[in-house]
Amino acid sequence: MLPAPPRPPLAVDLDVDVAVIGGGLAGLTAAREVARRGWSVALLEAGRLAGSASGRNTGFVLPGFAADAEKVVARVGFEHAKDLWALSQAGLDYVRDTIAAEGADGIDPEAGWLYVSKVDDSDGLFRSIGLLGDLGCEVEGWPTERVRAFLRSERYFDAIHFLRALTIHPLNYALKLAAAAERDGARIFEATPALSIDPSGVRKRIVTPAARVRAGHVVLAGNVELKGLLPRVAATLVPITTYVIVTAPIDRARLTAAVGYRGAVSDTDLADNHYRIVVGDRLMWSGRATVWPRNPRRYRAALAGDIAKTYPQLGRVAVDYAWNGTLGNTVHRMPQIGELGPGVWLASGFGGHGLDTTAMAGNIVARAIVEGDETWRKFTPFELVWAGGVFGRTAAQLRVWIKRLTDAAAERRAKAREAAQRRTSEPQTPNAAANAAASESIVPSDARGDEAEHVAQRRQDSEPADQDSHQRADD
Ligand SMILES: Cc1cc2nc3c(=O)[nH]c(=O)nc-3n(C[C@H](O)[C@H](O)[C@H](O)COP(=O)(O)OP(=O)(O)OC[C@H]3O[C@@H](n4cnc5c(N)ncnc54)[C@H](O)[C@@H]3O)c2cc1C
Repeated sequence: MLPAPPRPPLAVDLDVDVAVIGGGLAGLTAAREVARRGWSVALLEAGRLAGSASGRNTGFVLPGFAADAEKVVARVGFEHAKDLWALSQAGLDYVRDTIAAEGADGIDPEAGWLYVSKVDDSDGLFRSIGLLGDLGCEVEGWPTERVRAFLRSERYFDAIHFLRALTIHPLNYALKLAAAAERDGARIFEATPALSIDPSGVRKRIVTPAARVRAGHVVLAGNVELKGLLPRVAATLVPITTYVIVTAPIDRARLTAAVGYRGAVSDTDLADNHYRIVVGDRLMWSGRATVWPRNPRRYRAALAGDIAKTYPQLGRVAVDYAWNGTLGNTVHRMPQIGELGPGVWLASGFGGHGLDTTAMAGNIVARAIVEGDETWRKFTPFELVWAGGVFGRTAAQLRVWIKRLTDAAAERRAKAREAAQRRTSEPQTPNAAANAAASESIVPSDARGDEAEHVAQRRQDSEPADQDSHQRADD
């Protein structure tokens, strides 16, 4: 973390044009963009700036949204979806431009995102590439051989390469954004929770522990923690907690031989297996998802196990840091951006795709307030939908578990197909053929996939069998 100046709590009553509640990336961007346009703005943050999701995430700045492109097109039509994708790309470009203007030290941007498939469904993946390209994303398809030349994992098949994505140190980015906002005139108060809000009347009134704020407009950018202030708005989000580890330094040659790609990598649609190399010789790896937050220490072994399963050649990696963070998912997986009532604005629900979309939302809301711009109406098809309370959370957890199981089964089937293909394309000795036939007759189909994976891995790494079975016990 870069050094950050103390930002004391609000101690005297204030009268401003705009009050922003929440000092994550959405609130900070909105405050900065309002201030840049010459209006007075005060930002109230209950804890520390970017102390929640915005400073705890893995720093992938990607185009698009948490929602699948196909679903968005089905809901709003292709042209409307294309406009939405252009807005998300503008959010991504805003992050890039801000870094260029404020300096990259401490943010360490790296280019690119590889979205890797663990099944042999080239047709499906290349269809997605076609749609993303049509929506304006700069993407290219990587065939399995190219993927495995960069990411030496036998689990991987084809991938989508997002050329204009980048990775950043998100907390340091947020701190630079705050400093830029203050330079432009924004006033930022930490340890200042908004305790209540009276949104009626031309001037909205906000009560904090020591003072009150009166403002013509209020921007609600509190994400899932808004529940104390506006429970009905917060109830439209399912809070999802995910877990991140950073390993101890790994021998650089061994690490880069395994992970030869310097940008971001994701290998599921779930919270699992999003990773990148940080500070040259460590892996940052995130995964797992729970709807009730748990101690991140409980997930250290599981996440280290995910690394070992993907890159057994790295051996056992030690974990130096572990933390969690909570994001807010909407039912439709699209952000909530717009005017709830006269002068009351919402910028929330960014899910696991918040780095481009918080920048986008902050800009859209600031333009709406100061210039009367109506771009926010593009998001009205994605209205506030109750997320189902405890039942919604339980259903979300079940969906994660079921998806993980079905994905694992699909991966095993893909590996079994690949192993079978290799067997038929390799010249076989009579003994090998007999062994293969025997193993086919006694191993259940799912386990056969696992075994094929380990055999393939052994072949590639020339590792002794006992080391491999030790790995299997870890899985
Ligand atoms: C582990 C993890 C990894 C992720 N990885 C990525 C990634 O790689 N790429 C990506 O695009 N997205 C990622 N995300 C999602 C992304 O981090 C979030 O979508 C985004 O940061 C949300 O920003 P926000 O400003 O809406 O909310 P937050 O960052 O949660 O900020 C909300 C702030 O509002 C404050 N607040 C709430 N109520 C009040 C109140 N009453 N008064 C005053 N202040 C209040 C809170 O204290 C908090 O600081 C990840 C999320 C997590 C948790």
